[in-house]
Amino acid sequence: MESPQFLRKSEEKLKRKQRAVSKKKRGSGRRRKAVRKLAKVHEKVANQRRDYAHKESRKLVNEYGLIAFEDLNIQGMVKNHHLAKNIADSGWNQLVQFVTYKAESAGRQVVQVNPWGTSQQCSNCGEIVKKSLTVRVHQCPCGYVRDRDENAAINILKLALHNVS
Ligand SMILES: [Zn+2]
Repeated sequence: MESPQFLRKSEEKLKRKQRAVSKKKRGSGRRRKAVRKLAKVHEKVANQRRDYAHKESRKLVNEYGLIAFEDLNIQGMVKNHHLAKNIADSGWNQLVQFVTYKAESAGRQVVQVNPWGTSQQCSNCGEIVKKSLTVRVHQCPCGYVRDRDENAAINILKLALHNVS
């Protein structure tokens, strides 16, 4: 799930404030002031993220009986540091956490599946179709064409259903 626009804007602001702090001289009054500003933005972004995760997790739990996630904590997945940073930034773990406890009290099921190959495998025929992160469309020799994320989502759901049964 991609961060919404308002979050990305706040995160950019956060980076600007971080840079502002690092430019000020250590121990200076200006630096202290910049640090206070940074802390404020930090808190605002954390609140926005939490609100967003609450809203989205409520929607998911209201709408679906079974919710499947890739288990991004599985070792090996987060070798790519850029990807790892994005996952951390998007508050993914918080979202999974909120969905899990809301689902529990609503009697819904949450399943986490091994993310290995979910974006490479064809959800129609099972063939592995290698593609880098920049390739947004899954195109299989079997003729199946689907948005990359949709193809992955179908694979994740299939794995989840397999785990449940
Ligand atoms: Zn195929």
